Amino acid sequence: MIFRSDTVPEILGHEADGTPILAAHRSPDGVQLVITCPYCGLTHAHGAVGNAFGAGNGHRLSHCADGASGSGYVLQEVASCA
Ligand SMILES: [Zn+2]
Repeated sequence: MIFRSDTVPEILGHEADGTPILAAHRSPDGVQLVITCPYCGLTHAHGAVGNAFGAGNGHRLSHCADGASGSGYVLQEVASCA
């Protein structure tokens, strides 16, 4: 499911080990965090954990269909512009 029209990964920075930190946008139903994957370029959704802003922040393994997952990424929720 695609929630955003652009497919450019929003990389906020990197961890010390090089893991990318991605801007994550909460889905309209509030239960998922959605990112554009820096590895495969597709949109992946991860559980938002809770209703509190930033509750789902942290390291996740990517959901790349082709297995090009690298070392995953770190989600950092950002305010939705919707
Ligand atoms: Zn991916």
